[in-house]
Amino acid sequence: MTTILEKPTAKNWRAGRIKPEQMAKYLQNGRDFIDDEALEARLRTTAVPDAARIRAIIAKARSIESLDLDETAALLHVQDPELWAEMRQAAAEIKHKVYDNRIVTFAPLYVSNVCVNSCVYCGLRQENAAVARRTLSMDEIRSETEILAGKIGHKRLIVVYGEHPTSNLDYMLESIRTIYGVKVPARRGHGQIRRVNINAAPMPDEELRELQKAGVGTYQVFQETYHKATYRAVHPAGNIKADYAWRLYTMHRALEAGMEDVGIGALFGLYDWRFEVLGLVAHALDLERTVGVGPHTVSFPRLEPAENTPFNEALRWRVSDEDFEKVVVVLRLAVPYAGMIVTCRENPGMRRRLLPLGCTQTDASSNIGVGGYQDAEQHGERQQFLLADTRTLDEVVRDLASMGSITSFCTAGYRCGRTGQCIMDLLRTGAEGKFCKLNAVLTFREWLDDFASDATRAVGEPLLQQEIAEVQQKMPQAFPAFMQSYERICAGERDLYF
Ligand code: SAM
Ligand code: SF4
Repeated sequence: MTTILEKPTAKNWRAGRIKPEQMAKYLQNGRDFIDDEALEARLRTTAVPDAARIRAIIAKARSIESLDLDETAALLHVQDPELWAEMRQAAAEIKHKVYDNRIVTFAPLYVSNVCVNSCVYCGLRQENAAVARRTLSMDEIRSETEILAGKIGHKRLIVVYGEHPTSNLDYMLESIRTIYGVKVPARRGHGQIRRVNINAAPMPDEELRELQKAGVGTYQVFQETYHKATYRAVHPAGNIKADYAWRLYTMHRALEAGMEDVGIGALFGLYDWRFEVLGLVAHALDLERTVGVGPHTVSFPRLEPAENTPFNEALRWRVSDEDFEKVVVVLRLAVPYAGMIVTCRENPGMRRRLLPLGCTQTDASSNIGVGGYQDAEQHGERQQFLLADTRTLDEVVRDLASMGSITSFCTAGYRCGRTGQCIMDLLRTGAEGKFCKLNAVLTFREWLDDFASDATRAVGEPLLQQEIAEVQQKMPQAFPAFMQSYERICAGERDLYF
């Protein structure tokens, strides 16, 4: 457990948060695995990649093998529109092979926006007086969760914490317990959050172990930028977050502390997008090499405007829509087993464009104000940045169904041990898909009965029947047991899974 200081202040709390001894063993000759010069050199080369080599790399990705840095860089150099079309096609096929037509949805829950750091791009940086600060009480977290689980129908949350003594480990543990404890009646069954993921600053090993025991699904920390000079420029010296290596090795430490799934990410727009793609791939490869497990998810948020944050207004490295599509395609090919998250930072049109190219998770009905679900009118004052897609979960589920994608509310994986190395192996071989297909259909049935509008049911029902027919045809042995669970859900039972 944490040492709780009687009256922690941002200053005395900062001391001792970073424990260099916990990351020392990962460094090689005192250096981390991001070699800026070597990555830049790969990008500087002017050699036009040979089409045969690119096709061989695409074939490797199609067999669900991770690409190395040279292979990823070669893809980033492709100029030929025909080869890009082949890469897009392969990305879509890989997505389908590993994840079929399933999309997982979640919502962010911002529980605190106080922060001791001063990241120049973030509306929550400590000196930004334009943002009203707040840390939710447990009663407020319960109320927010009741709306998310009981009215909207979410089953997964990403809970977001500022880095501050008021949102220390004890606060996190209590908030996670509070969220899991909420159970609200819905139209036929009940609403409940079944997977709590968290996005929170790097923590020491002993705190990570406590979070794992509390039932955290995925622990997410974004490196923001892998480019060290840029990292230094946007994270002022003296801040906890200024320590690049402490952040870089958080996921290594988290996995070794027992956390089953971790999520990496880069904030696109801080530096050259091609460098950040190489950084993400280097991160995934180093996790695989040293800890034996790659990231469960990869995120690639684009930098958004934020309240009173001039840094974001004149970005040298802003990523165009066309390049952003390339980010998704190359990541899909390079890390073929990983879940890929596209969020409401992107507008509906862009999300429709990116989802078929390899994304597997998306949020909906999102509100990034602290207390914002309950207190919608104060949303504008507390938000971290501005969202480009404000559609409800019901609208997003309908939109996905009309594109032939089934929204999966499945949270079975981490509850029956299909996480970490195990899930990676299952995904690579396609075996996980069998469980996921069954659970996607069962949870979609639940959701249509409990939360869907008439318009969404009208689009969702035919898709569901199509999926049931596919289970019968492709998994005849599992079909009778599956139908038994399906009937029980139709009769009002909830949370049955394979
Ligand atoms: N304070 C913790 C941290 O920084 O790791 C977690 C919370 S922070 C609010 C979560 C993420 O928001 C950051 O990792 C960053 O990538 C993202 N973010 C910050 N400012 C942003 C902006 N203006 N546009 C888009 N994403 C932003
Ligand atoms: Fe704080 Fe995270 Fe925002 Fe940085 S990105 S100011 S650490 S909330």
